[in-house]
Amino acid sequence: MIAEPMRDPIVREFLLAFWKIHILHHADEQGIYGQWMLEELQRHGYRLSPGTLYPMLSRMAARGWLRSAEPKRSKAARIYRLTPRGQDVLNRIRESLDELYREVGGPRPTPHHSGPERRKRRQPAKS
Ligand SMILES: [Zn+2]
Repeated sequence: MIAEPMRDPIVREFLLAFWKIHILHHADEQGIYGQWMLEELQRHGYRLSPGTLYPMLSRMAARGWLRSAEPKRSKAARIYRLTPRGQDVLNRIRESLDELYREVGGPRPTPHHSGPERRKRRQPAKS
């Protein structure tokens, strides 16, 4: 069962933005449709409902970042692709991601408290 994601403050504050970055990225690669995107996000460990994804796609299209063509057949999926404006957004986000990753991501430095100096100090003194 899918919980109501919008009630989760972590979803609202962070994950929503992560999902939108995924959308921009994949819309750039190949063009996406809703069901495919839901499965792709699930592959990444995010379970969101169509009720979360579809309004997000519409909002991104309304902002001019994605464009969608009216499907040829009424039952066919609506395909979204990145627009030049969306491309600018994606480029900007990538710079921010790189910058953030340099500080927050990547291999963690060895914590100070496990360094040899501290460890020695923590040993009980024996004589
Ligand atoms: Zn992905």
